[in-house]
Amino acid sequence: MEKDILDIAIIGGGPAGLTAGLYAARSRLKVVMLEKLAPGGQVLTTEWVENYPGFPQGVSGPELMESMHQQAERFGLVIQRHQVSGVELANSPKLIHTSAGTLQARAVIICTGAQPRKLGVEGERSFTGKGVSYCATCDGPFFTDLPIVVVGGGDTAVEEGLYLTKFGNKVYLIHRRDQLRATKLLQERVLANPKIQVVWDSVVTAVQGSDLVEGVRLRNVKTGQESELQASGVFVFVGIEPVTEFLQGQLELDKNGFIITDREMATSRAGVFAAGDVSAKSLRQIVTAVGEGAAAEFSAERFLAGC
Ligand code: NAP
Repeated sequence: MEKDILDIAIIGGGPAGLTAGLYAARSRLKVVMLEKLAPGGQVLTTEWVENYPGFPQGVSGPELMESMHQQAERFGLVIQRHQVSGVELANSPKLIHTSAGTLQARAVIICTGAQPRKLGVEGERSFTGKGVSYCATCDGPFFTDLPIVVVGGGDTAVEEGLYLTKFGNKVYLIHRRDQLRATKLLQERVLANPKIQVVWDSVVTAVQGSDLVEGVRLRNVKTGQESELQASGVFVFVGIEPVTEFLQGQLELDKNGFIITDREMATSRAGVFAAGDVSAKSLRQIVTAVGEGAAAEFSAERFLAGC
């Protein structure tokens, strides 16, 4: 029925989705935001955010996201806790299939973000939850006074590695090159931290243990030399992959699976927009996700108005 058709359905409730929702609710549109877990996205697993403007001392990730959530709800954003299993985007209205039924919407904004990439080595999957983790905030305290391995050399690995020094008696940062990818300021902090030892030019080839993780096997990519390192926790931060499987090929993606948009956040389908980490771009930050969420909502409104 026409009256059941939403103006906008927003899929995903991280910073991009919540901002798009805030703008749509303030525009008095009929909007629903779908989020499979709690609103907040990946930022919920970030201990401390210090590059989001307006917080001179920084702010905890969960606190920042709770503020965005409350702000969007204050203007009437309806949030439904359902997982989207599939979408039909070619016609109007567009259909969004969820675990609790199908929604219809004239425009869709996809803000499903990204999830941690796996290493894909022996033992990684079987020891997940038994020492292998992708979330320092969630699991760091389990490794109090124990040795911890962090894999990766980007902002996430370095930031979370620094955070994990609060718990572990030693943090080994395993990086496959001889130079970190992370922002210079974070690099300086890591290199100055006596609890962190960077293991350069090395990859983890296996996670080892019996019931729980006891260590990792390493290979030096320059010399080929193999070694073992004792550790109770293995935190993997080797990048992200987009959450797009529910799209089943209905939108144009880049070679890494991120949604291609134009500058107005429009995708390859009329009336479908994308914002935040799920979209193809070079800078993935809370501040870019928020800006894109606002831009995507503005574009969706123009689409609805026939502009
Ligand atoms: P990233 O920047 O893509 O870094 C991934 C790291 O993992 C790189 O150092 C990469 O090595 C390494 N890597 C990739 N695949 C690997 C494998 N199979 N084995 C071993 N190492 C592997 O990912 P990220 O750190 O998750 O960050 C994602 C995005 O969020 C980035 O744009 C980042 O700037 C942003 N972010 C920003 C902040 C912040 O501003 N505070 C915090 C977190 C994340 P190479 O360097 O050799 O490629």
